[in-house]
Amino acid sequence: MTPTRRTALGFMAAAAGSVALPGRVFASAKFKYDLQPKPAMSGVWMIEGATDYFSMQNGGAIVNCALLQGETGLILIDTGPSRRYAEELRLSVQALDLRGVSAVVNTHNHPDHYFGNQVFADKPIYGLGEMIELAITHGDSFSNNMYRLLGDWMRGTEPMPPTAALATGEVTIDGRKFLALPLAGHTETDLALLDTETGLLIAGDLAFLDRAPATTNANLETWQAALTELQALNAAAILPGHGPLDRSGASLAQTSAYLSWLETTFTEGANSGLDMVDLMDSPMPAEFAAMGAQPEEFHRSISHLFPDIERRELPRAN
Ligand SMILES: [Zn+2]
Repeated sequence: MTPTRRTALGFMAAAAGSVALPGRVFASAKFKYDLQPKPAMSGVWMIEGATDYFSMQNGGAIVNCALLQGETGLILIDTGPSRRYAEELRLSVQALDLRGVSAVVNTHNHPDHYFGNQVFADKPIYGLGEMIELAITHGDSFSNNMYRLLGDWMRGTEPMPPTAALATGEVTIDGRKFLALPLAGHTETDLALLDTETGLLIAGDLAFLDRAPATTNANLETWQAALTELQALNAAAILPGHGPLDRSGASLAQTSAYLSWLETTFTEGANSGLDMVDLMDSPMPAEFAAMGAQPEEFHRSISHLFPDIERRELPRAN
């Protein structure tokens, strides 16, 4: 580059300086989720997440949140991935009830489900006791990971564990009755809530629909047992943690079928001498390949689940 050209470019940059600032203002204005609560059942709304993995495009809004009419406001189940998300949510739900959110419940210890908590710090925030312990232990490492994945979408987000341990069995939250089921399998402790009035089962991440189940902290056997319990409830409808509202029970059946397929594929793979890289190329049934976040979630599941299954199937010979 000649000195003359460098000078010319320098001049151009200086001349463009007057438009650079509005450009930057636009960049910060675009961190908007455009959250739209939509009716799910009578007196119940949902905010439906994208069925992809976390990305700069979706800002981490991959989760379903539920809002149920309580006596003094709206009961919010799960608070989304970030402060920005929850602030937007807090404003948008005033169209449903001017009094806004009255109480919060977290289903489990995954950041996309509770990293909006800080915005509702003035309300009771419920979670199972064990979930509170996990959130205290893992909050910072989840936070580091989320900032890496989502950058500025996470600005100002501080992980805040639930502030009150939720009882199990029949519970009343802001005047509304639920059956609170302490289950596990997707993580070490997963809460499912059956809304007595509508029969809606809020399944958290024990159920996925048309989105590949995430297995980071999963125990397949425990998860299948939880799905069997949920199926026995014969709920009027099911709100999965990820994917559309389910009025047929498909989310429980699909999640169970997918977990069974993972178990079989990894067990047979271990016995055929396949390693983790070989498994990446496993043929996937069309119904599972069509799920959101595939094949990424399958590839993650190999790293989460295969080493233990391999150890179980191929015990060390001494
Ligand atoms: Zn989860």
